[in-house]
Amino acid sequence: MSTNGASLQQLHTFHLPVSAHRVITVTTPDELLNAWTQAKQEQQAVLLLGEGSNVLFLEDFSGTVIINRIKGINVRESDTAWHLHVGAGENWHQLVCFTLDNDLAGLENLALIPGCAGSSPIQNIGAYGIELKRVCDYVDVLNLNTGEIERLSAEQCLFGYRDSIFKHKYQDGYAIVHVGLQLSKEWVPILEYGDLKKLDAATVTPKEIFDSVCAMRRSKLPDPNITGNAGSFFKNPIVSTKELQKLVEQYPDIPHYSQNNGTEKLAAGWLIDNCSLKGFTIGGAAVHKQQALVLINQGNATSKDVISVAHHVRSEVFKRFSVLLEPEVRFVGKYGEINAVEAIS
Ligand code: NAP
Repeated sequence: MSTNGASLQQLHTFHLPVSAHRVITVTTPDELLNAWTQAKQEQQAVLLLGEGSNVLFLEDFSGTVIINRIKGINVRESDTAWHLHVGAGENWHQLVCFTLDNDLAGLENLALIPGCAGSSPIQNIGAYGIELKRVCDYVDVLNLNTGEIERLSAEQCLFGYRDSIFKHKYQDGYAIVHVGLQLSKEWVPILEYGDLKKLDAATVTPKEIFDSVCAMRRSKLPDPNITGNAGSFFKNPIVSTKELQKLVEQYPDIPHYSQNNGTEKLAAGWLIDNCSLKGFTIGGAAVHKQQALVLINQGNATSKDVISVAHHVRSEVFKRFSVLLEPEVRFVGKYGEINAVEAIS
């Protein structure tokens, strides 16, 4: 389906008033390739979008937005694991529900993460102690220049903290069309975070973890269908042990998590909260009152408002802690992705 001069407001979770020259929804790799080829022949910029849950549009996009709705979940069983071959356009949370409904454990900690299955490897989505890396078997990408589908093993995806090869070498000229997941039959509950610590590892079920994760997320995170947002706006900063020592002297309560490589992860939400920025507002954009890491569209925000709030948050956190926050959200300008750090510096 193709629409010219289309609004993007309902096609991304920040719900900002931006548009694109053309929006095309595709349901197969062939349709995706045709849409991309047509746009390129017309010398248009192209943006591939899933559910738009991790993007901030800075202005109208002057090109073709291709919405990936390649569907399908195939399950295969081996002696040790369940193997899922998932269409990139499947909704992630629906996939998590599907696995639990079919007694396939392993994705329960990743419940309620907005977005599509096909976006999950780009960001190496993670929550409550599990990253996609742990369950990813492979990612199938369509090489848009050759029309061939290539399979990358999980190792080849070079997963890092909210990072992967799809933000680097495979950022342009490739589209994720399927994701392969491998869920071990030897299920181990991951109960290190928040309320999950209260559960008994000996008796807990995947459904109980799912319910607890959903309850925690619903209590803190705004529903993007009601309040526009793109989840955590900033990444948790990683600092050296030496930098951490200085911070602990000044702020003994500062949460930190060892990365086992001489670095420590700080909680960006805690840093922002300690600058008393919860509820801070510019125009229609604000720091969410329940979770400082989330910036929200209060209904009438412009892209400029969100950028102004992000800039203010970054400068206040730097003034107080000498730590520079970097956006986790990806920024899209008139012709494609732009450097998010530069945009809020
Ligand atoms: P939280 O419990 O308030 O903790 C704040 C931060 O500390 C988290 O971001 C988490 O880092 C880290 N943390 C907490 N317990 C930890 C542990 N036992 N070991 C290592 N690190 C720990 O976190 P929250 O903001 O409510 O989020 C809960 C989980 O959902 C987190 O995993 C978070 O990443 C995830 N989440 C992701 C998004 C997104 O848009 N990407 C949005 C909301 C929540 P990590 O982030 O590295 O886990």
